[in-house]
Amino acid sequence: MSSIVLFGPPGAGKGTQAERITDSTGLPQISTGDMLRAAVKAGTETGLLAKTFMEAGQLVPDEVIIALIKDRITHPDAVDGVMFDGFPRTIPQAEALASITKVTHVIAIEVPDERIVGRICGRYSCAGCGSVYHDTFNPVGTDGCNCGNWEEKRRADDNEGTVMSRLGAYHEQTSPLAAWYETAGIFHRVNGDRAIDEITEDILAALN
Ligand code: AMP
Repeated sequence: MSSIVLFGPPGAGKGTQAERITDSTGLPQISTGDMLRAAVKAGTETGLLAKTFMEAGQLVPDEVIIALIKDRITHPDAVDGVMFDGFPRTIPQAEALASITKVTHVIAIEVPDERIVGRICGRYSCAGCGSVYHDTFNPVGTDGCNCGNWEEKRRADDNEGTVMSRLGAYHEQTSPLAAWYETAGIFHRVNGDRAIDEITEDILAALN
């Protein structure tokens, strides 16, 4: 089993790109953020614990995240590899990942800090299928989402109150991973401040 990591600050477009790359590579997307939101919604023990950290824009403790991942990668769809979105976010998480799977590519979607607030605060998704939209950059059509089950959903933590903490956590705890993966020679930088299609094209080129 070998895997791909989509890396970058909150609001970089990791989820949007993961959705597209899944279509091209067939690798399932594993988003720890989505898994945690599902756990919060279901009111599980993990969800209750994670909620406080998520609402504060802080990282959920490593042991919780690593346990979630260890369980998720035992699912049959993960046997040929997966694409991680939002994981790993700390050095201990990256170390745990290295013991679970071979990471072949880390794709860093780079977006300047000053663009992040606008990107996060205008973001919404379709509750029916999970497709991600944006008020300005990628608005849903007048008939709603193509999936046919259009229902607008906005994340509780996508607001100006938490975005600075989330960005702070990224710079302090997650961005040091770049050097870690650069040393391993598997780190690819992609300019994420462009049209969605252009970014997808660059990511697919880096994966080939
Ligand atoms: P995301 O959907 O990736 O933006 O994640 C939303 C929130 O979930 C983050 O702000 C963190 O509180 C938490 N979270 C998601 N993934 C991780 C992770 N790998 N490590 C720690 N916390 C995480």
